Amino acid sequence: MSSSIRINRICQHCGNEFVAKTTVTKYCGDNCAKRAYKARKKAEKINDSNKETEQKINQPIIELQTLDFLSVQEVCQLFKVSRTTVWRLMKDGKVNAARIGRKKFITRSFDRPSPNRDSSTRNF
Ligand SMILES: [Zn+2]
Repeated sequence: MSSSIRINRICQHCGNEFVAKTTVTKYCGDNCAKRAYKARKKAEKINDSNKETEQKINQPIIELQTLDFLSVQEVCQLFKVSRTTVWRLMKDGKVNAARIGRKKFITRSFDRPSPNRDSSTRNF
């Protein structure tokens, strides 16, 4: 669709003023259109990569939230506290700890109502 109109527009890529033949022309020429397309694709790829990285970082924490037994290291990771804090809580009896061999594990407390368990299944 060609027209005889001539409109002064500013290129969205290089910022130079140019004469366009339609009111929707965004770029001064083919090169600017291609460069803008490439820049847009590059930004999309970077965005996708960042999202993927974020998901991989959060994945282990989601897995930890479903476990009933956690190692000291996993508790540190989940609650963002130091090993000293976890050891102190175990020593003070503020968390339920179990020993398996030489390793200590923190057990999830069943006293508190959990949204996944109804009250009838807590009697054990
Ligand atoms: Zn341009």
